[in-house]
Amino acid sequence: MDLGVDGRVALVTASSKGLGRASALALAAEGAKVVITARAQEALQKTAAEIAGAGGDVHPIAADVTEPTTPRRLIAETLERFGRLDILVANAGGPPPSRALEITDEQIGAAVNANLTTSIRLVREAVPSMQARGWGRICCITSWSVKQPMRELALSNLARTGLWAWAKTAAYDLFPTGVNLNLICPGPHATDRMLQLGGASGASGSSAQMGDPADFGKIVAFLCSEPAAYVSGTAVMVDGAASAGLL
Ligand code: NAD
Repeated sequence: MDLGVDGRVALVTASSKGLGRASALALAAEGAKVVITARAQEALQKTAAEIAGAGGDVHPIAADVTEPTTPRRLIAETLERFGRLDILVANAGGPPPSRALEITDEQIGAAVNANLTTSIRLVREAVPSMQARGWGRICCITSWSVKQPMRELALSNLARTGLWAWAKTAAYDLFPTGVNLNLICPGPHATDRMLQLGGASGASGSSAQMGDPADFGKIVAFLCSEPAAYVSGTAVMVDGAASAGLL
């Protein structure tokens, strides 16, 4: 299947490791030019070298994506380097484990900033360039917690469900302009984040099997593809049947 992303330009944030990295690799393998970002230079340069070594066109930018001014800078640099922006994969690190009644105002503010407002800022900044060409694909990496809140990840639950509610309404407004917006909701995947949370059973209270980040990246690439033209306003679960809800 031709995903139709060859030659398109993709910005993937928080992408030196884990699911963001896998998404950037998958898009680059399909011929997209990719801008990757992370705070720490070492891992960022390593991933950039990996993409370039496989024949990809990659531009790494060291930045904290949760800083309010960063999204504007990332999109401006992308346009400067590649002249256009077609695909945005909005990702950021996840909040620390937390029980619902123990979270502080400061923790709520930080989680909402990182896992809700940052994505909105990125979308807001990315959309004008996509709309100018009448084509855009946006995929926000969130969590299966939008469908099945996890008792020990209260901060994640509250920030990500807010993003889901916002994305559902934004997708409706964007679709007639040629820009599709979807959420992708990982269940337990074998990344550094998951190891910090103590593996699948630690993060979910279940003995769910771990997903492969490389497979996850390919699903992101599909959601950002030409044939995904009529897929918008959805929250795609990638969780190996781990969640128990019906909706
Ligand atoms: P990870 O820790 O393996 O990788 C996170 C990446 O984001 C790294 O490249 C890191 O450098 C970068 N990053 C973190 N904070 C950043 C910031 N402020 N600015 C710029 N870059 C930053 O994490 P992951 O497992 O790939 O998770 C990605 C997202 O998916 C997180 O929000 C996580 O909570 C969520 N998630 C992951 C899983 C899972 O099983 N891995 C499950 C559900 C949700």
